[in-house]
Amino acid sequence: MGRRSSWEGTPCPIARGADVLGEPWTLVILRDAHAGTTRFDGFRNRLGIADNVLSSRLARMVETGLMTRVPYRDGGRTRDEYRLTQAGADTLPVIHALGAWGDTYTRSPAPGEPMLLVHTPCGELTRPGEKCDHCGGDVNRAELRRFEKDTHEQVPLAEPVA
Ligand SMILES: [Zn+2]
Repeated sequence: MGRRSSWEGTPCPIARGADVLGEPWTLVILRDAHAGTTRFDGFRNRLGIADNVLSSRLARMVETGLMTRVPYRDGGRTRDEYRLTQAGADTLPVIHALGAWGDTYTRSPAPGEPMLLVHTPCGELTRPGEKCDHCGGDVNRAELRRFEKDTHEQVPLAEPVA
């Protein structure tokens, strides 16, 4: 159901994946969605993104199956929040690896950090994968926390919706 593009339907899965994911705003929206941001205002406030750009990116992410709209009540009004699907949740290793690569091989005008993940059973940093880098134990999404360097807060990852 994705938008028509020159890469849609190509036999190469890397090209198809990049066609859906390979845009910086999409990737940072996903990064924040993994850490629990769901509402339009929440993404806007965290990212400093223009409303029209955010609106079009979220619409495309729903269209390509990364996110789904879930209604919620806001005062007397019904609005939609944006929740990760399983396909969206499964971008975690991609986002994490891209952040590590960018941190190593690209320059930043200001201090930044890759996405840091803590494996709660051992309390150490790890990568999303089948086994923890530190303790060797099994890693599942429910046991990972995003580590916020500024506050040292450990934020649970959003659970995907069906
Ligand atoms: Zn561990």
